[in-house]
Amino acid sequence: MTTTALPSYEDAIARFEPVIGLETHVELGTRTKMFCGCRTEFGAEPNTQVCPVCLGLPGAIPVANRAAIEATIRIGLALNCDIASWCRMARKNYFYPDMPKNFQTSQYDEPLCTDGYVDVELDGTTYRIGIERVHLEEDTGKSLHVGGATGRIQGATESLVDYNRAGIPLVEIVTKPVPGLGALAPEIARAYVTELRDIVRSLGVSDVRMEQGSLRCDVNTSLNLPGAEWGTRTETKNVNSLRSVERAVRSEIIRQSSVLDEGGRIIQETRHFHEDRGNTSPGRSKEEATDYRYFPEPDLVPIAPDPAWVEELRAALPERPSSKRARLAEAWGISATDMQSVANAGALELIEETIAAGASPAGARKWWMGELARRANELAVDLSEVGATPAQVAALQKLVDDGKLNDKLARQVLEGVVAGEGDPAEVMTARGLEVVSDTGALTAAVDEAIAANPDVAAKIRDGKVAAAGALVGAVMKTTRGQADAKTVRELILERLGV
Ligand code: ADP
Ligand code: MG
Ligand code: ZN
Repeated sequence: MTTTALPSYEDAIARFEPVIGLETHVELGTRTKMFCGCRTEFGAEPNTQVCPVCLGLPGAIPVANRAAIEATIRIGLALNCDIASWCRMARKNYFYPDMPKNFQTSQYDEPLCTDGYVDVELDGTTYRIGIERVHLEEDTGKSLHVGGATGRIQGATESLVDYNRAGIPLVEIVTKPVPGLGALAPEIARAYVTELRDIVRSLGVSDVRMEQGSLRCDVNTSLNLPGAEWGTRTETKNVNSLRSVERAVRSEIIRQSSVLDEGGRIIQETRHFHEDRGNTSPGRSKEEATDYRYFPEPDLVPIAPDPAWVEELRAALPERPSSKRARLAEAWGISATDMQSVANAGALELIEETIAAGASPAGARKWWMGELARRANELAVDLSEVGATPAQVAALQKLVDDGKLNDKLARQVLEGVVAGEGDPAEVMTARGLEVVSDTGALTAAVDEAIAANPDVAAKIRDGKVAAAGALVGAVMKTTRGQADAKTVRELILERLGV
């Protein structure tokens, strides 16, 4: 145990230069698995989506999923990669209980896509992140350790394995080492994963949800003295959110700098990121590729995509998220920075759909980036899962525009919508939240307020019209905020003969 206090991030980065590299796994949203016809639905009863192929039973023969190959090529094209005209799958041999075949069918020295890049924007500057390769492999199953207090293997009385996930197609996207980012390395790492997520999502090949594990990221970090060779990297696993990507790089920079300062040596190893503590602890020391005894998969034919088909896929790629952001920022009349916050909040498509459902850009943005973002944050869910749909948000804004709700009432209605009480109009009626602008109904409340505040009423009669605000406030109070303020004010002045 070292007793030396860790240096500050600023201190560490003033003396050392970081190099980062990211390995990102994307679980494809294909209907069936990579090498068999088993379904891939998330959350199914354990071991109900399995067959001899994905259970690795003797004699079972895999057949590659064309949709997965197509999705991988589209990802490669969107990341500006070269697409191999011929490549093979490879066996990566290791034993682990959640991997029933005792090898993972993956790709090794013949990946499907190579040598691309992603442009990442941060505070108005573009950083080009090189892509080493994009390859196709299969996911493992999941172990569940029960009987202990923590759910970890330590202290557990038994371990259960669920093979539903085993064999789901997985795409691994590996960056080239990225030097030269200096103090911005953690933020750029996060911005890269965000951009990658948006690109993959725009292709519609995965739901890329970090909380559900359909997007997973390993973060490699090393430090070197200025001018010296690159240092030894560590590979941080368990990075389950965009925020954690940034924190993991930062905490490794701090930790490694303190090891190096004390004359220590960085060991090439995997490390685990701890969300609660914001730091990493050692995992296993890293295997060499030779430990896996890779060899070409003999049960599968090579993959040889027809160049004409690849060109068709290229031509059909959707609009790049960065171009789309620029186009929409212009259309919505907001700055690039505001658009970046919208994208980072996962609100872009939701706002777009809300506008398509009839809301103004400002109205749509206000709800998603305000009340609903706050709510999603509280519940720790994605904005898309907060419980309101774009159509409902557009309907809510329309009620405000029509004067049936004011902002305060609209927030209460939205609360009801999110709680599953129905569409905005239904919630408004059921909870009795509609703005009252009917003069008949308001006159009694106005008279009551005048009678209760004779001195204020006298001032207004004397021409101090500004004092009317106090009476409007009183009426708002008795009507629980439901009176239309403008109508109330007119009524007060009328009743007092001003
Ligand atoms: P492994 O299978 O051992 O994880 P990969 O080639 O899949 O190896 O990924 C290694 C990752 O580490 C790549 O993203 C690469 O760019 C990155 N990397 C390599 N060298 C360094 C370094 N010195 N510092 C930081 N990252 C590095
Ligand atoms: Mg790797
Ligand atoms: Zn199967």
